[in-house]
Amino acid sequence: MGPMPRTLTFPAPSSTECPICSAPLPGVRCDACGARFDGPDGTTLWRVDHDLHDLSVVRNEVVARLLTEAAWTERAVAAPTPAAPAAPAGPAAPLGPPPVPPVGPAVVPERRRPSLTVAELLVGAGAVSLVAAVR
Ligand SMILES: [Zn+2]
Repeated sequence: MGPMPRTLTFPAPSSTECPICSAPLPGVRCDACGARFDGPDGTTLWRVDHDLHDLSVVRNEVVARLLTEAAWTERAVAAPTPAAPAAPAGPAAPLGPPPVPPVGPAVVPERRRPSLTVAELLVGAGAVSLVAAVR
């Protein structure tokens, strides 16, 4: 095994917990930090948190697939392959889905993707710093 993969998690937003300070949220206003969530910024924060959650899930799934493919490729490269490029036969190592992921969480089939527009918006707004702050 190589180094541990970097994993990112972001909790799905809850209607009963303040998305900013995590205090119990009795209504549209948080008693603990004073933020109100019934305006446009509250709606945006809700959407962004949803997308960050979805993105973190998608990222971890993609990382798991990439690591599985990497392990598969390493095995194929380790096997002896003909060096002559003129060989008429196809590639020695068949590319295809690996049979079984050796480690990690089960790879879940396609899930609902976060909206591209918000993903692009996040990238434009510096999602890297956002995500880094979550860690
Ligand atoms: Zn709060």
